[in-house]
Amino acid sequence: MGIVTAEQQIKLYAELIRDGKQYVPIHFQWHELMPSAEYKRYWLYLMDMRLLITLDAMRIYYGVPITVNDWYWGGQYSLSGLRPMDTDVGAKFSLHKFGLAFDAKVRGVDAEIVRNDIRAEKFPLITCIEKDVSWNHCDFRNTNRLMEVTG
Ligand SMILES: [Zn+2]
Repeated sequence: MGIVTAEQQIKLYAELIRDGKQYVPIHFQWHELMPSAEYKRYWLYLMDMRLLITLDAMRIYYGVPITVNDWYWGGQYSLSGLRPMDTDVGAKFSLHKFGLAFDAKVRGVDAEIVRNDIRAEKFPLITCIEKDVSWNHCDFRNTNRLMEVTG
């Protein structure tokens, strides 16, 4: 089934829960969400299913590469997905530390355009975004959607 529309994303999430199934991303590999190789074997356990569904949905919707981490390919990002509990980067209780947040860079698409798509409910599993930044922080905290936070 597709996961492009909001309804499809919600339906897929509901069906996976109903059937007791794990979601394995189509377009993202372990190192794009983990901070180092130490996490490789645990990565699917450590990331929220809604997050993984949403990343694939965004990748399909925009049709361009989405960078979360790129350290594996020699890039600068290693803490844009899961963050180690003891990192000094970000907030003490950042959702990143619980497998409930990602920072996406959607190639060629301004972050504000993506935020407006999220506000327009194209990715309804996201419950919180960070505003006024050049990337797209999306998280899946237990709250009324859609929260918008600063820094
Ligand atoms: Zn973030």
